[in-house]
Amino acid sequence: MTTTADAPPSQSFHRSKLTADDVQRRLRYIVEKDRLVLDDLPRRFLETFAAILTHSNYRQVVDNYARITARCANCAPSCQIYQHTHAPHDVPCYRSNLLLEVYRRHFTMRGLITTRLLGQEYLTEDRVLEMASTFYDCTACRRCTLDCPLGLDHGLITHLGRYVLSELGLVPRALVISVREQLEGATHNTSAIPLPAILDTIEFLGEEIRDEKHREVQFPVDQPKRDFVFFPAVSDYLMEAETLMGIALTMHVAGDQDRWTIGSQYFDGINYGLFYSDWILERVLQAELDEARRLEATNILIGECGHASRSAKAFAKTFGGADAPPVVHIIEYTYRAYKEGRIRFRPGAITERVTYHDPCNIARTGWVVDQPRELLRAFCSDYVEMTPHGADNLCCGGGGGTVSVDELRPYRTGVTGARKAEQLRATGAKYIVAPCANCKKQLRELCEDHGLDMQVVGLHDLIYRALDLE
Ligand code: SF4
Ligand code: SF4
Repeated sequence: MTTTADAPPSQSFHRSKLTADDVQRRLRYIVEKDRLVLDDLPRRFLETFAAILTHSNYRQVVDNYARITARCANCAPSCQIYQHTHAPHDVPCYRSNLLLEVYRRHFTMRGLITTRLLGQEYLTEDRVLEMASTFYDCTACRRCTLDCPLGLDHGLITHLGRYVLSELGLVPRALVISVREQLEGATHNTSAIPLPAILDTIEFLGEEIRDEKHREVQFPVDQPKRDFVFFPAVSDYLMEAETLMGIALTMHVAGDQDRWTIGSQYFDGINYGLFYSDWILERVLQAELDEARRLEATNILIGECGHASRSAKAFAKTFGGADAPPVVHIIEYTYRAYKEGRIRFRPGAITERVTYHDPCNIARTGWVVDQPRELLRAFCSDYVEMTPHGADNLCCGGGGGTVSVDELRPYRTGVTGARKAEQLRATGAKYIVAPCANCKKQLRELCEDHGLDMQVVGLHDLIYRALDLE
């Protein structure tokens, strides 16, 4: 599983002291008067943590992890951050242990007795600030989970730590602004695109397809009782025209033109709640479910976006009830149309070398791994794999919402994405296929910052070029 021969680090984890200004500068939190409010930070952290443990099912998991974690550092070599820095504080277990130790010291009988005997509280302002900084070092890719003999999910602990911090206002500005627009703004989407602009865009895309492919392809809007209501990452309407054109053309050629629709009341698949707040996760998902129910759609169809797919797939029934519509990933849809013979490709349509990047959110569990490869092999004459790939892939370096934080770019491309850049270079590919809006942004920045002459595209961008229209 692990690809480096790095020895696990020593157990004497250490990190130099962070100041509030360091943390503020790094993540630009949304706080009163744009300054980090330090008053009573440990007490507020503990109260929030206690409330979340009481009103959720995290307690069992945290309690279990706090008891079993062995600090064996088996997880270290599997983390692309540790692979690059070899710093003890980048060992996954070190980071998770920051929160688990708070639990042990403040929420278990033994911890409470120790605290009383020593006469001092464990959680200090410094410790809260370290968590605030380091939980956004992790990309929540969950690769380290594959190598932990005890099955600890550090992505989950990172999420929980961020959840507690977000309730104190400690959350990157970029995420908060996007979510605020999505849930409370006039446009109801993270990119603040007004509906008329979306409608203009899809009309334009339809014209482009007509000019290029000589097909009358529609992007249906507000059609009731369809099989699929479609939620891409809304940024695709601005940034990924070919991905959307490829999806619409696939639907058309497969004979499903009248089986899908976009909703006008809500059309954004992005759900940053997956990265930092269950409360936000639920509210965004409700908006999707409400739109699906308004249109009486049978399925929720998510576009090329990893976290949008996982947040909907994993939590639609949790928050929407047993009758929530099933969630289908667009690659699942296209793969099925291909296997049923409803679409065909021109073999060898893409002659340049192509490689495929697995977005962690759809690949780590094995959900979407083989399907895109079979599709690509059907029309690429020079397809190569990265090493490792599939469920064992390396994160692009921008996971867990970090790609949305521009201040983190030097860290994302210089540290978290450094191993990915090496992997990409080794393929010698011209096209990197990355079916995820976040991965695409990160990989493009990675190519720029590492001088890689490669083009990042979506899977349906190439499908658009390769579909057999005869
Ligand atoms: S998380 Fe698992 S692999 Fe890592 S140190 Fe702890 S017990 Fe070992
Ligand atoms: S989730 Fe990914 S980035 Fe975070 S510690 Fe594990 S391997 Fe490293």
